[in-house]
Amino acid sequence: MLIDKGRWTGPILDNHFHLDRGHRFLDAALDFKRAGGTDLVLVHKPDFSDLPLSLDGWRIAYDDTLAMASEVRKEVGLGVRVVLGPHPASWAHQRQALGSEVASELYVDAVELAIEYCNEGQACAVGEVGRPHWAVEEDVWSEANELLSWTMEKAAKENLTLQLHVEGDGASTYADLAAMAEKCGLSPSRLVRHHAPSEVDLATTAGLIPSVVVGKGSVETIMATIADCKDGFVMETDYMDDAKRPGAVLGPKTVPKRTQALVAAGLDEEELWLAHHEIPLRLYGESE
Ligand SMILES: [Zn+2]
Repeated sequence: MLIDKGRWTGPILDNHFHLDRGHRFLDAALDFKRAGGTDLVLVHKPDFSDLPLSLDGWRIAYDDTLAMASEVRKEVGLGVRVVLGPHPASWAHQRQALGSEVASELYVDAVELAIEYCNEGQACAVGEVGRPHWAVEEDVWSEANELLSWTMEKAAKENLTLQLHVEGDGASTYADLAAMAEKCGLSPSRLVRHHAPSEVDLATTAGLIPSVVVGKGSVETIMATIADCKDGFVMETDYMDDAKRPGAVLGPKTVPKRTQALVAAGLDEEELWLAHHEIPLRLYGESE
């Protein structure tokens, strides 16, 4: 029994977490562990003041994320999986600064290198990739969609999971992404929607895996929609480890806290096992 006297005693995974050597780094990971966390999915954090300008630049940037993951494993004792990729805002910034052609080449380099690291077993998925979550010109939007389609085709061929950063809150984005995945030969169950709203029912998610950002009110909405959830859900804080926005998006202790709140609200052991173990295993393979 993983629920003992009303408390979850099993693994606790945060599916989208960033770390920054210039900010709290190991202390943030330690906060997560002390609150009951066991596993992090560490997502590459772009440095917008110094974005890579070559394949080698991407390698240096990714290597630092991998090095941070090893330090967290060794110094803090957490399981850490690493997700590498070009953030949609990185591409948009570079498109503005360097033009569409150069920015797209850098994007392709970044995705191909991330796939190489996945195939070597150093990373477990590509992300966060997606499309702008702010209003953009028509041509930017269509180029972003072309790049995303190309990325989905790659993921299908390599049998890899994508962590998506996309626009909007509602069901229409999910349906659109599921249709796009189908065209690319990719199962929607290989798509994780990062920063997802709390509705986890299949009518909303269209077969994608929602990574619910578990802010205030999320427990109630998860409980209200869980009966119609088909493929499960995972939880995240989208912790940014950013000096300018401390505690954003949610603090490192939030997933452990909400996990206990979900138990108190009556969520089944089976759903929690899916969220913290089974789905991550399916999406990414074993934790290191
Ligand atoms: Zn993120």
